[in-house]
Amino acid sequence: MKAITLKAGREKSALRYHPWIFSGAIDEVIGDPELGETVEVYSFKSDFLGLAAYSPKSQIRGRFWTFGEKANIDREFFSDILDRAIAARKSRGFDIEDKESAFRLINAENDGIPGCIIDKYADIYSVEILAAGAEVHRETIYELLAEKTHCKGIYERCDSDVRKKEGLPLRTGVVYGEVSDEPVIINENGILFPIDVKNGHKTGYYLDQRDARRRIGEISMGKKVLNCFCYTGGFGLYALRGGCEKVYQVDVSKDALKLAKEGIMRNKLSTAHATHVEADVFQYLRKCRDKAETFDLIVLDPPKFVESKDNLQKGARGYKDINLLAMKLLAEGGMLATFSCSGLMEMDLFQKIIADAAADAHRRVQIIERFGQPADHPVNTAFPEGQYLKGLLVQVV
Ligand code: SAH
Repeated sequence: MKAITLKAGREKSALRYHPWIFSGAIDEVIGDPELGETVEVYSFKSDFLGLAAYSPKSQIRGRFWTFGEKANIDREFFSDILDRAIAARKSRGFDIEDKESAFRLINAENDGIPGCIIDKYADIYSVEILAAGAEVHRETIYELLAEKTHCKGIYERCDSDVRKKEGLPLRTGVVYGEVSDEPVIINENGILFPIDVKNGHKTGYYLDQRDARRRIGEISMGKKVLNCFCYTGGFGLYALRGGCEKVYQVDVSKDALKLAKEGIMRNKLSTAHATHVEADVFQYLRKCRDKAETFDLIVLDPPKFVESKDNLQKGARGYKDINLLAMKLLAEGGMLATFSCSGLMEMDLFQKIIADAAADAHRRVQIIERFGQPADHPVNTAFPEGQYLKGLLVQVV
């Protein structure tokens, strides 16, 4: 059997079930394993630690499949993981039998398949694989997924640049059944969203903000709302349904704004109460400031600003900038729902940035609620990196 041994003392994280083996922790690679091949992992003292998928090109050189157990990494292994994920989702109110709903069925490391994301959009599944181990077993995973869910089609979205770090080619396409070019319609808390699994961001949509979107709907009545980084209009549609006086939807993506507009009509909401703006949010906020515009509720849900440890500071400046600008635009008593999906930006630092932004904007601001990940985006306790999404609802008083 091919194997890797770790340097002295570097077995500690594996003993706590952390799924990653960094290149710097490895003492020796035995037997020249291929990309994604299963290897046995041993401590420096030759204690067996578990089985892992080998990634020769990545800084994350191995990802554990099992701990302390020599199971076969085969059909049965993945079948068991899928069964557990399906049952766990069902117990949290996410049922694969519901043909309209959308949720994350497999959340990568947190559900036992490192680097593999499986999102359900009505009767279509959209899959993103970012690690060599899952890549090797992808056909088995697709077969099992089709069998267990009786879905109409499975689409592969293996087009993220992260794959290059793993030495994997970029690839997209239908891998099971049929997936139409027309968007698939999902029902999220009673609002219909068209999802373009073939061309949309990530697997097609940002499922992780479902709970936050609903909350915004609940506090929008009568308000003038600014929805920044709106993508397909999610927060804005909830605000309209919640009775906002007006919502401004801002994004740089023309395609996303087109779906946002369609979404308003599809849900029979009032187009007269919505304005769509194709703009860079940084510039748009400055323009509003120069015109002394104010809003009662602002949503800031930007893309990931911190991609690596090296650009934490730069990313932090980005968060500070937009939050400072947004705070200046809040009317008296106005609220700001502000988010960061950068895993490397922890809640403590994010809260500090918000505090700095409030101080620099010379506003008195209170934190009134916190946001995190919904129950279909669970965090494995052994894998704190799984916690990436955080948000604060703050109010000027
Ligand atoms: N709030 C959305 C998800 C936002 S994802 C939802 O609930 O579904 C981030 C969005 O920011 C993407 O749609 C992307 O097109 C947009 N974006 C990225 N950089 C931007 C910028 N500088 N100005 C405006 N939009 C930007």
